[in-house]
Amino acid sequence: MSDPFPGFSGISMIDEGGGAESAAVPRPAEPSGPPGAGSGPVEAKVVIVGSGPAGLTAAVYAARANLAPIVLAGYVPGGQLMITSDVENYPGFPEGIQGPELMARFREQAERFGARIVDLDVDRVDLSARPFGLWAGGVEYRAQALIVATGASALWLGLESETRLRGRGVSACATCDGFFFRGKRVAVVGGGDTALEEALFLTRFATEVVLIHRRDQFRGSKIMQERAMAHPSIRVRWNQEVTAVRGDEVVSGLELRDVGTGERSEEPVDGLFVAIGYKPNTDVFRDWLQLDEKGYLVVQGETGSRVEGVFIAGDVHDHRYRQAVTAAGDGCKAAIDAERWLESVGLAESVTATAW
Ligand code: NAP
Repeated sequence: MSDPFPGFSGISMIDEGGGAESAAVPRPAEPSGPPGAGSGPVEAKVVIVGSGPAGLTAAVYAARANLAPIVLAGYVPGGQLMITSDVENYPGFPEGIQGPELMARFREQAERFGARIVDLDVDRVDLSARPFGLWAGGVEYRAQALIVATGASALWLGLESETRLRGRGVSACATCDGFFFRGKRVAVVGGGDTALEEALFLTRFATEVVLIHRRDQFRGSKIMQERAMAHPSIRVRWNQEVTAVRGDEVVSGLELRDVGTGERSEEPVDGLFVAIGYKPNTDVFRDWLQLDEKGYLVVQGETGSRVEGVFIAGDVHDHRYRQAVTAAGDGCKAAIDAERWLESVGLAESVTATAW
């Protein structure tokens, strides 16, 4: 599987002499060893792939139903909340909470009820017969039921100079890397909530944040638009596209093109944060499960798929809501559906849904 949760670098962008560690986000733990590795396939009633809000909520519910789920969490676990700063809309946290802290709590809760979490990427799956086969870190897993909750990943502009300078001033994660731009000028590309949120977050460090958008109005929510527009350190450049990132070793500026007039201009900045949306992480499943025209998994019924025993939850199928709370709700539904299905085929005790 290609990095299921890219965007979270967890590493420094530019070492400014303050050490190479990112101060904003805790590093993920070293990959934990697979349970029972070394003695043939590891068998489980339920395997969950992905460890964002959907995967870990599914783990909490499956673990509480005595299904002893294994979570194949990804080499960089935690999902997109690992690259989110203040989460102000997750119910139960009236003061807000940092995304990484919220995910640490999800994980702790799943482990408390017995979920086994393995911080490895899934390389390959075989959904042709049950138990389903999954391979991660050289270990084979066999699952009677599978919950796919692999989420979505940050998109990039696709410029050669952007790729070359990634990690040298180009980032998709202000939370991870914003700290390294203290006292500097940065740009954010995009016009959705992610771009607005990243721009606002970066004002904590940068002297000026240039928000570059290809249209003359934002797509993000009204409240975020108002906050960004009112912030004295944010300057918006409308109708502009980035045509090149300047710099040899590190970013020194951007070449922009006016979408209306075609006029080129230079914008000197020390960093570029790309915040233009996401792509669903479906690579290892695309031969087995149905994808829609945007590449998202297609759900049948509430959480089912075209393969009996395979359930789908979270942003890997949801391009409409894409919220932590909706992903968590999805994970809950997928676990309940998986448990009921296991019961229906005689593979789980009849604990009934009222036991949840
Ligand atoms: P999004 O809403 O799809 O917005 C992507 C933005 O990037 C759009 O403004 C788009 O421009 C621009 N864009 C796309 N491709 C581009 C390219 N190649 N070059 C330049 N610009 C490009 O994505 P998002 O902002 O990541 O948000 C995704 C979802 O998550 C939304 O539902 C959002 O509400 C939600 N979200 C919520 C929160 C929150 O509630 N705290 C935070 C973050 C995200 P156009 O406008 O011209 O299409």
